[in-house]
Amino acid sequence: MPTGLRRRRDRPPEWQIPCPVPTCRAKPGTPCHTPTGRRLTADSHPSRADAWIVQTTRPAA
Ligand SMILES: [Zn+2]
Repeated sequence: MPTGLRRRRDRPPEWQIPCPVPTCRAKPGTPCHTPTGRRLTADSHPSRADAWIVQTTRPAA
């Protein structure tokens, strides 16, 4: 997804799912953190956004 499409929001859409990154494991609705406990400047890990995109683009069964 082009970064230009991404607006600054309080809640990125990928926050609807938990973060798949083992060192993060952010719960739905919460921002991602680094292993040291600092909030990511990007709000979420790229893999979390990827996982959300895969989930939302997957055809309904
Ligand atoms: Zn994360």
